[in-house]
Formats: sequence, C-alpha cells, structure tokens
Amino acid sequence: MSAERCNDDAVDEVLREAMEPVFRDLRSTGISLPRVEDNDWAECGAMLRSPDGTGAGVSLDRSAPEFERVAMIADQVQEWVIEELWGRAPTNWPRCPHHPDSHPLEASVRDRVAVWMCPADQTPVAPVGGL
Ligand SMILES: [Zn+2]
Repeated sequence: MSAERCNDDAVDEVLREAMEPVFRDLRSTGISLPRVEDNDWAECGAMLRSPDGTGAGVSLDRSAPEFERVAMIADQVQEWVIEELWGRAPTNWPRCPHHPDSHPLEASVRDRVAVWMCPADQTPVAPVGGL
C-alpha cells in the first residue's frame, strides 16, 4: 500500500482538509452542514448527505496544489448546496454581493489562493473560507 493511496475505511484526510474552509463558509452563511461519508466508488472521494438522505459525491485530485483542491471542493460543495436549497430558498449560494438577485459566486483560483469570485465581472469577493 503506497502513501498516495486513499484510506479505505475513513474519509480521506486530504479531502477533509480541503472541505474545511468550504464548510466554514456554509456555517457563516447559515447552511446546515452535510454529513460526510466515505465513498466506496470514487478514489479520494466522499459523499455529502443531507438530513433527508439525498447525497452528492465529491472527489479531488491529490496531485493538485492545496489551493486548487480547495477550489475544486468549493465548486462541488456549491452544487450540493444548490440542490439542497432547491424549492426551499434562493439557490444562488454563495450570494454575489454585487448582484444579489442573480448569480451565485464562482469558486476560482487567484494568486495561488482559492477564492469566490463574481462570474460577471471576474472580481474576487472573498477567499474560500472567508465568507
Ligand atoms: Zn456578480
């Protein structure tokens, strides 16, 4: 078993680290955190589970630098949140402060930092984890 291999019976540590800042943003914006479960079918992956049992898979590329991993996970967690809010609340999470009634922010990388940026004018709004 090489060190690069993902842990078989627990959610991977690298994945947990990448999720941490994104979960901080969920908490600071009042979104209930999903339960995180090990995912058998995706290498270095996990399942995000809602209280009602629906789930979405997340995974990452371990060879990517840390800031890219965070941006990757932010993007996937965002999809889960949008699904989660569907039909119950506005789904534009995280809300763009410049255009609060239209698009959500988009996960991206600027100067080796994972950021949320406005997709319309490409302005970084906050680092991921700093909402
Ligand atoms: Zn915007």
